This record gives sequence, structure tokens and C-alpha cells, in this order.
Amino acid sequence: MPLVAITPLTQSCYETILNRFSHYSLIAHEDSINELKTIFNFRANTFYSNPINRLEKIKDLPRFDGVSLKGSAIKLLLDGQAGGWIGNKNSRVQAFFFSDVIDSINDEIDDPDEFCNKVTMKMKQKIESFDNFLTPINGLLSIESKNILSYWGHHNVSSTLLSESKNISIRILPNCETSEMFERLPSAIRRDSYHYHMLKKEKVDVILVGDANYKKNICSCQTCMKYDCEIVILTDTRRKELLNLI
Ligand SMILES: [Zn+2]
Repeated sequence: MPLVAITPLTQSCYETILNRFSHYSLIAHEDSINELKTIFNFRANTFYSNPINRLEKIKDLPRFDGVSLKGSAIKLLLDGQAGGWIGNKNSRVQAFFFSDVIDSINDEIDDPDEFCNKVTMKMKQKIESFDNFLTPINGLLSIESKNILSYWGHHNVSSTLLSESKNISIRILPNCETSEMFERLPSAIRRDSYHYHMLKKEKVDVILVGDANYKKNICSCQTCMKYDCEIVILTDTRRKELLNLI
């Protein structure tokens, strides 16, 4: 994710790959790409699951003084959990991803129907861009940093990352194992374990991870335990530097 959309790890991810591992070949497996693609493949077409469905409500809402269509749209994005809570993982992800889409709508548009049609069309286009970005061509995922999609705010990356485009190519390999042996693991670690297992099976020299608690997720099968490789943990240190937080 940090390579294709702006996250707090994006700056470190690019710099680590381009500075430290520029002579390495990068690989990932098809399942890792499929996992990313499902983020915006909403489980159900309901108010809570699908942010496009939520934003359709703009058409029916009464208007109030001092509340803009954009303001209402942001609140609808965040309001993605039954029970009146806000900020669960799905709605947080959706609000980060689509807030820029709302921002891009012309401020002059004050007709709820027109606003709604434009915003939902652009949301669908952004999901399509995300899917295209993650679709390898001849097994190669070629990423230009200038095309990174906005997700978390631009304050997480340096402006040069977007203006002086850097290219990173990743070979996407077919899954070299079925996920069957991981099915009994808790759902929170199942997929990560599967991915670690496949990378070790490919005998990689280094695994880049974005999770400081990665040790809990490492596959503990005999083959993986016998194979040692360097683990590099990406952090948000570079973004903290950009924001003068350290
Ligand atoms: Zn294993």
C-alpha cells in the first residue's frame, strides 16, 4: 500500500527501496496484490459497508444554514459503522481515500443531485485507478511515484517524491503455495503468515514489512524456521522529520 497510495510509511518505503535496495530485484505474490484490491471491493451494498451508498443520501437530506454539501459528504464518509460509532477501520480508510475526491468537486455546485452524481462518479473512477495501478502487465507492476494516489494526507510525503518521479518495478509471482495450511490461524494473522511463508519459500534475501509486530505473524513451519533472512521494518520516521515532530 505505501507504494501506490500516500500513507505515513510511503516516504520511508520509497527511500529505503531506492537508496538501500536499488540493486535488488523486488518481488511480491499475487495474493498480496489481491488482498490490496479487496480494500475497495465493498462487502455489501449497504449504507455502512459502501461509502458510495452513503453519499447517495446527500440527495435526500434537508439543507441547513452553514452546512455545505462537502461538509455533509465528509461526515457521511466517516459515518460507516452501525451503532453510532465513528472511525472504525473501514470508514477511516474510506474517509482518507475519498476525502480528496470530495475536495475536487467544484465549490460552485450547490445542487445536491448534481453534487452527488459527480462525487459518486469520481469515487468509482478512483477505485478503478487503484485497481489499474495494482494490475501487473506481463507479470510486472511498474510504479511511478508521481502517480501515487492520495490516501492519507500529502503532509506524509515530500513534494519532490511526487514531482521528481521515481520508478519502482515489482515482479508479481504466482502464489507458490496454497493458503490451506494457514486456514486454522486467527484471521488477523492468517494472510500475513501465508505471505511470509511464500517469500521465504522463494528464498528472498530481505523482507520489507510495515508492521512493527511482524514477529507474531511470521510463519512457524519447519521450512520457514530454518530459513533466515533480513527483515527491514518500515517506520514513519521520515514523515515525522518532514513534520518537524522529531
Ligand atoms: Zn512457513
